[in-house]
Amino acid sequence: MSRVYNFSAGPAVLPEEVLKEAQAEMLDYRGTGMSVMEMSHRSKAFDEIISQTEADLRELMQIPDNYKVLFMQGGASLQFAMIPMNFMKHKKADYIVTGQWAKKAYQEACKYGTANKIATSEDKTFSYIPDCSDLPVSEDADYVYICENNTIYGTKFKELPNTKGKDLIADVSSCFLSEPVDVSKYAMIYGGVQKNIGPAGMVIGIIREDLISEDVMPGTPTMMQYKTYADNNSMYNTPNCYCIYMCGKVFQWIKRMGGLEAMKLHNEKKAAILYDFLDQSKMFSGTVVKEDRSLMNVPFVTGDQDLDAKFVAESKAAGFENLKGHRTVGGMRASIYNAMPMEGVEKLVAFMKKFEEENL
Ligand SMILES: *Cc1c(COP(=O)(O)O)cnc(C)c1O
Repeated sequence: MSRVYNFSAGPAVLPEEVLKEAQAEMLDYRGTGMSVMEMSHRSKAFDEIISQTEADLRELMQIPDNYKVLFMQGGASLQFAMIPMNFMKHKKADYIVTGQWAKKAYQEACKYGTANKIATSEDKTFSYIPDCSDLPVSEDADYVYICENNTIYGTKFKELPNTKGKDLIADVSSCFLSEPVDVSKYAMIYGGVQKNIGPAGMVIGIIREDLISEDVMPGTPTMMQYKTYADNNSMYNTPNCYCIYMCGKVFQWIKRMGGLEAMKLHNEKKAAILYDFLDQSKMFSGTVVKEDRSLMNVPFVTGDQDLDAKFVAESKAAGFENLKGHRTVGGMRASIYNAMPMEGVEKLVAFMKKFEEENL
């Protein structure tokens, strides 16, 4: 068996330790004689799994008691519709569009009310985060929406926007649990788990309790109302049991690693290895404004498409997978989530140095 260094943007690398634990419990989960995949979601064993998973997430993120933690399906993309359907009480919301995912969320919201694009960085291929200190926030906006870490473009909000008192909703799919977070600054934090937390097929929503009510857009399906999840501990219907179990294992792993402060230090150190190399390279360069760089997704280019293609092909042959950049940016992108070991980035940089020497 040989494992590659997987730089995929998502679904993405998981901690090897976690995969081995899951493997060891595959046929017989702790004396139940069955796999978690085969288990009733109403069983005692699964009840313990989901309760512990939520408790560990609450501990890691220090989630205040007045926030609900919901496990939902449909991917982060379904939230693009659920958010306006549940929260656009005055039929108005403000969107800061810093990439494809924010744009999709904005476009979806336009179907349900007035969505205002109050800031965007589309003019420069989303390579920076706009100044959000004094935005034209609508007086009757139900919320202000951001995508906190832009997976495709590799930018991250280092400071939250000034929402002028309006509720802030953030898609944190690609920076979930990468650093400490003050949950109380948000009305809702949500993310698909397949980037930094677990397997694909689930979204975790952390929502301030007072926002969750029956007062939703008429016709909103039961399965698209946050209240349905909140009232039933995310088990109105069968949840993604195996994914919840895997997320729980990753939370335990992060706790063993020292929690979110330790994760942040680790991620900063890891990203610096790559960014420092890019900053001095004569061949490669990062595509993002320095102060807005993401710790998780690092896009870079050589400036020559043929050379980019050659790099992607040779890196793959050398055991570095999924380095091809998104089609709208071109070049390469290394996603270096929590589970990417330091060694993976060190070896990638060594490979890039060698490639540069051979091809410059
Ligand atoms: C991947 C991603 C999404 C989409 O997630 P799905 O689960 O595929 O719907 C949304 N937002 C961000 C920031 C992402 O990185």
